[in-house]
Amino acid sequence: MKIAMLAQNASLYSHQRMKEAAEARGHEFDIIKTLRCYMNIASRRPEVYYNGEKLPLYDAVIPRIGASVTFYGLAVLRQFEMMGVYPLNESVAIGRSRDKLRSMQLMARDGIGLPVTTFAHDPKITDEVIKLAGGAPVVVKLLEGTQGIGVVLADTERSAKSVVEAFRGADVNIMVQEFIKEAGSSDIRAFVVGGKVVAAMERKGAEGEFRSNLHRGGSAQSIKISPEERATAIRAAKCMGLNVCGVDMLRANHGPVVMEVNSSPGLEGVENATGVDIATKIIEFIEKNAVAGKTRTKGK
Ligand code: ADP
Ligand code: GLU
Repeated sequence: MKIAMLAQNASLYSHQRMKEAAEARGHEFDIIKTLRCYMNIASRRPEVYYNGEKLPLYDAVIPRIGASVTFYGLAVLRQFEMMGVYPLNESVAIGRSRDKLRSMQLMARDGIGLPVTTFAHDPKITDEVIKLAGGAPVVVKLLEGTQGIGVVLADTERSAKSVVEAFRGADVNIMVQEFIKEAGSSDIRAFVVGGKVVAAMERKGAEGEFRSNLHRGGSAQSIKISPEERATAIRAAKCMGLNVCGVDMLRANHGPVVMEVNSSPGLEGVENATGVDIATKIIEFIEKNAVAGKTRTKGK
């Protein structure tokens, strides 16, 4: 097969691992810089150009679109979909998962466990929003944050109020969430490929840190997850429509709650922690599923 990966940085561990795995299985693999693609979007015969040339017709495309280039990246991916190229994750599904509120609303509709989460625009109702989230302690989160940046734990009503007001002053969207204390600074990342959890790790926050992100000094180890956690991760992936994703969950007293579904999950932490060859599992999934024109939405 001829496989294209849309990525900005070809040298990242995850990207190199998928390239290696594809080539080891006899496929051609091109890493294409997302922002360098250009196209005539008004043409009835969709094509993508790159470095002065028309790209060949690939059998499959692996989108690794960074959060900061979502808008342009999804337009490029849609163009591939319109050409009938099979996307590992569809543009519509990635778009859904990039919008934290939309994702949570969709998962709530499907009855998937979530932390109590509130959202409001009007700064005058800060007290009520905090109360609606169950009162302090609460976690205040920037809607557009990643790697744990913009996630703040407020222990008291007073600090919660000042944190919310500080964020508001910066004119950013935030949500307020119940603090799942019993998770004990740990979270679970379940890696889903084709409706199955292929690996799971527990991430634990550094001493004195409630956030478990590896970027914040957290550590990871392989864990065995419960059937309920497994089922929750699979349902979350299905709800988003993602074939490959990382589902982040907290162990709450009342069962697993999903914090986030990541459509471009990194391989390094989870492959190192679990020893699972996820890159090969992804390529095998593409081999079984990449049929021209199989995109459900074709960019619609
Ligand atoms: P990001 O998307 O930036 O990683 P997250 O929402 O995943 O932000 O939060 C970062 C970390 O903070 C999580 O991995 C988890 O350890 C901790 N955390 C986030 N929300 C909660 C919560 N409601 N209760 C307890 N811990 C939380
Ligand atoms: N492709 C449709 C749209 O963009 C569906 C979106 C969705 O799944 O929510 O409107």
